[in-house]
Amino acid sequence: MNIILLGPPGAGKGTQARRLVDERNMVQLSTGDMLREARTSGTEMGLKVAQVMDNGHLVTDEIVIGLIRERLTGAQPEGGYIFDGFPRTLAQADALGELMADVGQSIARVIEMSVDDDVLVARVTGRSTCGDCGEVYHDVTRPIPADGACVKCGGRTFKRRADDNEASLRTRLMAYYKQTSPLIGYFHAKGNLSTVDGLAEIDTVAACIAELLA
Ligand code: AMP
Repeated sequence: MNIILLGPPGAGKGTQARRLVDERNMVQLSTGDMLREARTSGTEMGLKVAQVMDNGHLVTDEIVIGLIRERLTGAQPEGGYIFDGFPRTLAQADALGELMADVGQSIARVIEMSVDDDVLVARVTGRSTCGDCGEVYHDVTRPIPADGACVKCGGRTFKRRADDNEASLRTRLMAYYKQTSPLIGYFHAKGNLSTVDGLAEIDTVAACIAELLA
């Protein structure tokens, strides 16, 4: 079963995607992660998108569609794909539909994670991740353990994203409302949209998603 997690930055898409990978053997395709990887590996594309990302704007459709196209070739995962942070524009949504059809697949469900804007600022500005396994922490709601070791892998380096600051978040939210939120209507019209309350506890959100995928 292939699904899309849709929602503003900080809604919890990455956190839920990681759980689905662990629990249902799904494959997470996060264009944000792919772009960050391209930056750190210093590829031409990575250098090109770095400033756009730090300022909170969307990178071009051509680039992200290309990244997804590359990942969809080859054997399809048994548990299905989780599209996390993609599509973010109507053009990307159309392209995804075509790419999936080309490999004989479709999107079974689009799960919108709805969250209050004020909460997003607090969530995003306190966020950090394990440098080794990507486990997500938050200064207030899920602090890094006192012994400094990641609960999941024991790693001891933690990262904060360059774009997880209030100014960049405002721009990312505006991009979400202007360019991405029209996808809610788009997928509603296609008939496979469901909404979960992204403000609920992580386990509660996970349970709601599990129910939708049952
Ligand atoms: P994310 O990790 O999903 O919050 O993405 C971080 C940043 O990467 C975004 O603010 C954009 O600059 C860029 N990005 C990620 N996914 C996309 C996408 N599907 N379309 C355009 N830009 C993207």
